Amino acid sequence: MKHSLGSLALLLIILAGCNSAPVPPAPTKEAISFTNTVVSLTFDDGDADNYAVRSVLAGNNLYATFYVVSGFTNSNGYMTDDQLRDLYNDGNEIGGHTLSHTNLETVNGAELEREVCQDRSNLVSYGFEVTSFAYPFGHYTDEARQIVMDCGYGNARGVSDGPEAVPSVDAYGLRAMPYIVSDTRFPKMVRYVTEVENNGGGWAIFVFHHVCDGCDQYAIKPEIFSEFAQWLGAQQSNGLVVKTVGEVMGEK
Ligand SMILES: [Zn+2]
Repeated sequence: MKHSLGSLALLLIILAGCNSAPVPPAPTKEAISFTNTVVSLTFDDGDADNYAVRSVLAGNNLYATFYVVSGFTNSNGYMTDDQLRDLYNDGNEIGGHTLSHTNLETVNGAELEREVCQDRSNLVSYGFEVTSFAYPFGHYTDEARQIVMDCGYGNARGVSDGPEAVPSVDAYGLRAMPYIVSDTRFPKMVRYVTEVENNGGGWAIFVFHHVCDGCDQYAIKPEIFSEFAQWLGAQQSNGLVVKTVGEVMGEK
């Protein structure tokens, strides 16, 4: 009896030594230690349901980038400027996503400039420092790219071809991981991150839209987002870096 208690104590000491960081139920068989991987969580469009992730982000020491369509702000289905300010004051980033979610391949000249520059002005007028932009649908022309630069943005994100490198190859064509859609599950999201590390490192920019249970094809379920956020939060003590796009680009 004495002997087995001693063995148990030894086992507990060994287990405690192995688990110095709090880790949630392991989604992968082996723990991974990150040396060269950066993750950014980005939310497009400023949907009202995005506000619900505020506490999840804060609770896991994570900061995200919210790309806002300022022409929709304060209207039904979208966040209010007060809610955006809450997110911003928590340390999240607010970026631009045009005035009315226009495909920038379909406009030019003054209309293109209005879509990009008036949107940014609106966000600045709400009190935000705005350096990051996301192209609606990931589409743009050379002219659109130039306008984004001229309006004062320091970077612009697409929606595909990720992972991105650090430093990025093209600040006005940041590459993102595949869309998170309603059937994207937690293990797959974890795999996106671990594969980047296993392939030598890089920048995994995740693109989210709605956060809800089945309200949209491009939606993540709140519980899956929470699960992923908990995992990301815990991996920060294993070397994983989670930052806003502006932070990674050195602009915030
Ligand atoms: Zn969008």
